Amino acid sequence: MNAAPANRDSPIHARAAFDVERVRRDFPVLDQQVHGRPLVYLDSAASSQRPRPVLDAMAHYETHDHANVHRGVHLLSQRATEAFEGARERVRRFLNAASTREIVFVRGTTEAINLVAQAWGRPRLAPGDEILITWLEHHANIVPWQLLAGQTGAVVKVAPIDDRGELDLDALERLIGPKTRLIAVAHVSNALGTVLPIGRIAALARAHGVPLLVDGAQGVPHGRIDVRALGIDFYAFSGHKVYGPTGIGVLYGREALLADMPPWQGGGDMIRTVSFAGSTWNELPWKFEAGTPNIVGAIGLGAALDYLERLGVEAVAAHEQQLLALATRAVSAVPGVRLIGTAAHKAAVLSFVMEGTHPHDIGTIVDMEGVAIRTGHHCAMPVMERFGVPATARASFACYNHPHDIERLVAALHKVREVFG
Ligand code: PLP
Repeated sequence: MNAAPANRDSPIHARAAFDVERVRRDFPVLDQQVHGRPLVYLDSAASSQRPRPVLDAMAHYETHDHANVHRGVHLLSQRATEAFEGARERVRRFLNAASTREIVFVRGTTEAINLVAQAWGRPRLAPGDEILITWLEHHANIVPWQLLAGQTGAVVKVAPIDDRGELDLDALERLIGPKTRLIAVAHVSNALGTVLPIGRIAALARAHGVPLLVDGAQGVPHGRIDVRALGIDFYAFSGHKVYGPTGIGVLYGREALLADMPPWQGGGDMIRTVSFAGSTWNELPWKFEAGTPNIVGAIGLGAALDYLERLGVEAVAAHEQQLLALATRAVSAVPGVRLIGTAAHKAAVLSFVMEGTHPHDIGTIVDMEGVAIRTGHHCAMPVMERFGVPATARASFACYNHPHDIERLVAALHKVREVFG
């Protein structure tokens, strides 16, 4: 993947010169042995590793600046507030949102979607109203809508996918009707790797006057997101899938929508005034941030987005595409392997099964070879049902993966064959 063309100044070389060796040195966790072998980490879709600048930013805050935010006049509280709100501005820039009023810090994608379901959906939806999702959603973009349906009498409709794991866009359009109140889709399927045509879905949503929520948990790490250019109403993602810490994530919401929503949780920070006669709410985005937030998490997330920007979002995406192409060829050549998810447009995820071998056994054996992959239903049980498998093995790629990692995976899969073949 690092093939150097003769002319080192050519734009082609500039694109090809993603220095994965240098990137790997930023991730101290990768420099270790597991089961006596150098670690190969191919589970970034579940949680990516954190580079030193993220660890350093968090350690610096904890060591020098920690205090509660927003409420203090003392210097440490001011520094903590500056760092926390500075992180919000970094997220705004990263998504190209119009204002930091549109950036709500939450625990992660799951919490962001639940927030929309409860604060946007619950007061609005009536019996028979419809929420339209797709067959390839993570449980985080299914269950909150089922809960909401149970609370309001609304109905969850599901747009089908085909045998390659691609969304049937015509079917999705046919499912949009006068009762559709929200369309909620993944940006990228965590189980299949399919990249959904968000621009086209957004255009459909706009044409029908229906808001669009995008679950961006697997989108943000693998490509540039411009919520304004795409015309997205809500966008949710998690810090820990984009080189940041766990316990922090983002709900982007178009200001007009957020302004019209009641708070989700009550408590400190989300109020302007409180009396026993009643309370009034803080401005956006704090109206949705009850209680002391995850300050260090937000700072880590800001540093992670800066890190990704420095590497170059497009350069990372191109690197991952090369890894995916290589892995697709090499893994599908292993006897007995069947790929699950062969969409034309995929991102950084390779799901597969092996004849006569349960995915958990694949995962256990390759782990003994030092290769970390994920096995199971990937919180996408309907996808497993659609493909008639109980589970898959899944290798997923990030900026720090090297073509050697794929060689190691393939060698480990041959070991699996030796044991079960
Ligand atoms: N949506 C997708 C597509 C995911 O891959 C995940 C996590 O795997 C989630 C939502 C949930 O993210 P979190 O557990 O960080 O809330």
